[in-house]
Amino acid sequence: MKAWLLENQAPIEERPLRMGEVPEPRAGAGESRIKVMACGICRTDVHIAEGDLPLHKSPLILGHEIVGVVDELGEGVTRFALGDRVGVTWLHSACGECEFCRRGKENLCRHAQFTGWDADGGFAEYTVVPADFAIPLPEGRAFEEMAPWMCPGTAGYRALRLTGLEDGAKLGLYGFGPTATYVLQIAKARGMSVYVTTRSEKNKAAARALGADWVGGYDETPPVKLNGGIVFPPVGNLVSYALGQLDSDGRLVLSPVTMTPIVIDDFNLIWQERSITSLAHVTRYDAEQFVKIAHKHDIRLGIEIFPFEETQEATIKVKHGQIRGNAVIRIAED
Ligand SMILES: [Zn+2]
Ligand SMILES: [Zn+2]
Repeated sequence: MKAWLLENQAPIEERPLRMGEVPEPRAGAGESRIKVMACGICRTDVHIAEGDLPLHKSPLILGHEIVGVVDELGEGVTRFALGDRVGVTWLHSACGECEFCRRGKENLCRHAQFTGWDADGGFAEYTVVPADFAIPLPEGRAFEEMAPWMCPGTAGYRALRLTGLEDGAKLGLYGFGPTATYVLQIAKARGMSVYVTTRSEKNKAAARALGADWVGGYDETPPVKLNGGIVFPPVGNLVSYALGQLDSDGRLVLSPVTMTPIVIDDFNLIWQERSITSLAHVTRYDAEQFVKIAHKHDIRLGIEIFPFEETQEATIKVKHGQIRGNAVIRIAED
């Protein structure tokens, strides 16, 4: 099969990916092989290609926003039939036995394997995943549209879950990229009021178009106290700013995987049981729930589709923020 291979990490502009011919993977016991129809490109792919994250195998096939059809079933797999539409997220597998897995926090599993990092991902014609970790997808929707559901969509769903907010609550979003775009739509579907703070005029317009109840810049303050919030930019000094807008018992979720230093210099910012948490990876539950909500409420994100041959060039554009919405590679025709 054709696959984009990463052997040595380098700045993506130096084109470290190479299109190669490798044997088709086979489904082992408990696994499903997926004919990849489309795969989204995430910033994490850039980080792995460039060496911000260590290389766990070489060659490696990147890509963890995988959607396709089950095309081979390993021994003992009854969860799917051939031809079923499925997706694969960043969580490739978890042990099922550690303290975190037992508590429903498989995202924190001590033995988790991640797609397109520990295991080969979706920048390829086929991929193999433990059948229990494939996410069922609905019929009647374009694969390209569902690819970003697997990472920004699912991660956004988890971020919103971590706020602990109930339907109808007041939610603050800080920064308005692709993940926030999904969160806003889920929150509105759940009857929440959403207050968006972002620098970019383009993003302010996008937030308004999607029904935000209030949109402003960082020199402004929402007109009401908020029950919870999610910070998207990796900018530590936004934390105090966002905490200052929370009502008592409000929780702030930090979505980035790293941030510049966070300084909280006033106890009043966390007094009255305000709290802060981070978001780490996703669970199958997050993905399955998000897929249902996204399908039911027709939640969409702008996508820009690239042919498989242009995967590397598209990844360069992702790094430089030159994509409208989410970049998706079309690998096979539906
Ligand atoms: Zn991702
Ligand atoms: Zn575990």
